[in-house]
Amino acid sequence: MKIICVGRNYLKHIEELNNKVPQEPIIFIKPDSALLRNNAPFFIPEFSNDVHYEVELVIKIKKLGRHIPVDFAADYIDSIALGIDFTARDKQAELKAKGLPWEKSKGFDHSAVISAFMPTPVNLESLEFRLEKNGEVVQRGNSSMMIHNIPSLIAHISEYFTLKIGDYLYTGTPEGVGPVQSGDRLKGFIEETLMFDFVVR
Ligand code: ZN
Repeated sequence: MKIICVGRNYLKHIEELNNKVPQEPIIFIKPDSALLRNNAPFFIPEFSNDVHYEVELVIKIKKLGRHIPVDFAADYIDSIALGIDFTARDKQAELKAKGLPWEKSKGFDHSAVISAFMPTPVNLESLEFRLEKNGEVVQRGNSSMMIHNIPSLIAHISEYFTLKIGDYLYTGTPEGVGPVQSGDRLKGFIEETLMFDFVVR
């Protein structure tokens, strides 16, 4: 399976990082070795002093597809989860400055936290989610605020990458990203359902 991630998909997050609003979705891939499941602790990697959380809605793909028309994109959604796209912001800044690919800062081991999956809710296009750090809400998002909504992401991505059963799509993060420290506890919710709860080491 592959993990497909979307960058800069919420306006206020683009503003907080002083990035430009993209004309088309920004896509990157994480390897399957990036997954961190079952509320396992996250260990801050040695190479970074500035790892940021980015909470994101995640879509699991249920059938093989390429060149998927937007109107049929919903047929490819199996279930949804909540995830964190951990990002070594210092490493990312260094790579971006040199015009190099992001992979080391985004695809390192255990950088893709994933919760258990739930059936796709009817209000997928207006779904609330949030991240709490040590009991305080640090990020709050709603899928209705995405620049590129989920069907258009599926359509766009499938023009470049064949989607396969079991692939994950991380749909981008809203504003409020920030650093983690050893000892932090992160809890993620979709609406009022607790999706993950783990600690940083
Ligand atoms: Zn992200």
